[in-house]
Amino acid sequence: MTDDVTTLDEAAWRERLSAEQFRVLRKHGTERAGTSPLNAEKRAGTFACAGCGQELFASDAKFESGTGWPSFFAPIEGAVGTMKDRSLFMTRTEVHCARCGGHLGHVFPDGPAPTGQRYCMNGVAMRFEPKG
Ligand SMILES: [Zn+2]
Repeated sequence: MTDDVTTLDEAAWRERLSAEQFRVLRKHGTERAGTSPLNAEKRAGTFACAGCGQELFASDAKFESGTGWPSFFAPIEGAVGTMKDRSLFMTRTEVHCARCGGHLGHVFPDGPAPTGQRYCMNGVAMRFEPKG
């Protein structure tokens, strides 16, 4: 994908994504816990943005959080951005793709070493690219 994803309008995104991908990436939705096949993905490789293909997380930063969502202790440097999300009567830190702005999930300060961070991601917002 080489086109400029920062200029796509809502209709173009709708065309590009599945209904569930659109709901999560463009409308800040959350997939149902335990529904993503990426939860069980244990191969070496890279998790990329389903919206624009940007590489977001390496498989060696993935851990089993028990939440039902694919979880990582760190993103690939510069791959994601964060902002405060005050919806649902609480303040959480929202995580989005630094390239296309697609909503990926949230980050919480209760993750494992070495970062102590837990990037709780929607599997539907990503695709897995096995190494090699
Ligand atoms: Zn993206």
